[in-house]
Order: sequence, then structure tokens, then C-alpha cells
Amino acid sequence: MPELPEVETLCRQLKQVILDKEIRSFEIIDSKLTAGEGLEGRRVLSVGRQGKALEMKLDDGDGITILLHLRLTGRLLWQGDNNFSFPHTRFTISFPHGRLDCIDPRRFATLSVQKTGFSDFDDRLEACPTGMVVEPLKDFYASRLWEMARRRKIPVKSFLMDQRFIAGIGNIYASEILHEAFVNPWQKTDLLSPAKWQKIEEATTSILNRAIVCRGTTVSDWRDLFGRKGEYQRYLKVYARQGRPCPRCQAAIQYMHLSGRGTYFCPTCQKAD
Ligand SMILES: [Zn+2]
Repeated sequence: MPELPEVETLCRQLKQVILDKEIRSFEIIDSKLTAGEGLEGRRVLSVGRQGKALEMKLDDGDGITILLHLRLTGRLLWQGDNNFSFPHTRFTISFPHGRLDCIDPRRFATLSVQKTGFSDFDDRLEACPTGMVVEPLKDFYASRLWEMARRRKIPVKSFLMDQRFIAGIGNIYASEILHEAFVNPWQKTDLLSPAKWQKIEEATTSILNRAIVCRGTTVSDWRDLFGRKGEYQRYLKVYARQGRPCPRCQAAIQYMHLSGRGTYFCPTCQKAD
């Protein structure tokens, strides 16, 4: 599933190719999707991201916003010169200079069109109570995390990945962040000190920004807007590295399940307190 760095990569690349361009046609191929009518002839005014969701605001008197959440297997592909139709394409937006395809084998990606601009966007994010969700690249402060987490008794990794609290962090980056911060994934949030939250804040900011520069992490099917693999997989220290040495202490990375998700950690660097 694309996480924040992958969706941010798409967002930045979309800005390069569709900003200020006019939609020539919007073709829904998968009947499970219903949005997309009446968008022809409108210009793309802005492209943004909230958590793992993309928003494209269109030129219209009242403001029309296309909201897209890629979920598990959705990807976007820009086709400038070639016009190849890939299997599992669910919708296509054509522009004068190329075409944007959404390819999604498992059909979980969601698409909607709002006529009220950006104001209702937060309510549409999955299970995100408005006003509570922290965006890691905007308002991610240790003090705020500590305040949100200290009355809860859940494993810190589950907290980091819970989209009701923090937008955009999934299994890969949660594992990497906790390793960089020397925090055990099973550590209960109410027992984490402000100093540990400070380390988590620093690790989160640094890892997500580095992953964006690398255009995300390709350990399975992630590709960027132009069909290229990301590069952050070269810098992973624990994720998908069970049995291999921790780059910091050489102990063998371990793999265990935590709340149903595969979890990678170093038993020495990330010892429970
Ligand atoms: Zn280690």
C-alpha cells in the first residue's frame, strides 16, 4: 500500500504534468466507480495530499475537487507519448499532452468528486475524526504526540500506523522510524517518555523526507507516476530484513507479528524498557 512518501511523490509528479492543464475527457472504466462526469474542459488548479489521499482541485466557479485514495494496490501512471492500455485500469483522465491512468488490480481505490472545494475533505478520509489527525510533514511535534498517546495503552507501532491519529504512516515506515528512534514496537504508548517521543518525531521527519527524495520504497509493486521504482528500499534498516544484521549493532533483525502486521525490529537496539 502506498504510504505518505509514495503519495507525496505522486503529488509532486502530478504537479509537474497536469497543473494548469485542461481535462479533455474523463473515462470511468470500472463500473464500481461512479464519479467523474462533467469534468471535461476544466483546468487543474492545484494538486495536494492529505495523509494517503490525493486531491485535485479543478477550475470551476464553486470549486470542484477530485479525491482519490489508492488504498491497497492502486497506482497512477502518466502516459505521455505511448497509449498502452494496462489490465486493471479503472479510470483514465485525458489531457491534450497525455493521459493519466489509475490501475488497481484489487479495485479498492476510491474516487469521489466534491463540489464544495477543500472544506469537507478531512471528513472523507478513512476513520479520521476531524481535528485530531496529525500530518507528519506539517504539524508533527513530540509534545502533541505525547499528549495524544499518554492516556492510551497501545503498542507504539500500532499508534503510529493508526490513521485516526497520524495520517500516512504504514508498516514499512513505522518499522523504520522505531528502529531509528531506538524504540521497541511493543512499547505501550502511556509508558513512553517525552524524550522518546522527541526521538520518534525526529526519526519520522527525517525518514519520510528521505523517502520522498527517493520517490518512495519499492519492495513489491510500488511505481511512481512514470512507472519507475522508488529507491528508498536501498536504505531500509529493518523492514523485510529478518535474519540480516542490524546496520548499527550487527544483531540479527527479528520478525514477529504485532496486531496482525509483520513487524521487523532489532532485539538489541530496540530492547523493551
Ligand atoms: Zn541494532
